This record gives sequence, structure tokens and C-alpha cells, in this order.
Amino acid sequence: MMDNNPSSFTQWAHSAIARNQESIPCPECGASQVEEMNCWEQLGAIIAWEYQDPALMAVHFLTVACYNLQHPAQFTDEALAGLRADLIAHLDEGLTVQEIRRRAAQHYNGPRRVLKKEAERRPLLRHWSMTIADVYLPERPQGAAERVKAWAAAIRNELR
Ligand SMILES: [Zn+2]
Repeated sequence: MMDNNPSSFTQWAHSAIARNQESIPCPECGASQVEEMNCWEQLGAIIAWEYQDPALMAVHFLTVACYNLQHPAQFTDEALAGLRADLIAHLDEGLTVQEIRRRAAQHYNGPRRVLKKEAERRPLLRHWSMTIADVYLPERPQGAAERVKAWAAAIRNELR
């Protein structure tokens, strides 16, 4: 889904920042930009931290699931329902990430669409008690795994 190479991400993020100096809240999750980084750029920064933080790497599934659930416009309704069900099964029933990946590989083994076409995406603002801006604290990678878990728990509650 995204390039996991932190150095190419950093280059890309810097050019993205140069292009967009305005601090506009996210049209989907309502998060503020952090140091002029939008949600997608903050996600890239958190993923870059994973290389130095095994505890954060261990919750990679949660990080991506939380990001996707708070930015749903790009996904088909079916993909979104699957994402929601996976997060709930993982948190409530301990369904492993390995099992989630195995099922997804089976399910999406074909021409099934996960992403909506750009023209069909309709971002809708929804307010959440925690967003990625509460997880991505610049220069504070310490404790990021715990922040991701709190983020996932908050989203889990608000999905009820
Ligand atoms: Zn957002």
C-alpha cells in the first residue's frame, strides 16, 4: 500500500510539505496537521519509526487499520466492512494478524476492488476522540506503540 522505505518517504514528505504550507484540518478525521504534515504523511512518519521500535512494529496492523478506518472515503463499502470486522475481531477475540492476512489473501484473490475510483470518493468529516495527530508526536517516538493501542481502543469504542 505504501513504500516502506523511510528515506524515500522522508524525501517525498518534504516535497509534499513544500507544496502545501497551509495548515488545514483533515477533511475526513478532523486531525490538525502536525508540523504541516497531513494524516498520510504522519502515517508515513510513524511507519518509519517502526524500524527502531519492535513494540511499534508489532502493532503495525493496528496503525494501518486505525488510519484506514478514519480515512474511509477511498475504500469500497465491502472493503470497509471487512476492515471494521477485522479490527473488532482482533481486539475483542484476539484474531491474529496472520489469520486476518490469510483470510484477506483468500478473499481478495481475484478481481475484487478494495479502492473506489478517485471520482467516486466522497470524504465526510467525522469527529473522533483520538486521531493520528495524537499518536504522531514529533521527535517523540517513545511510547508510540502505547499511543497506537489507545487510538485503536478509542476507535473500537466509537465503532459501536
Ligand atoms: Zn485525517
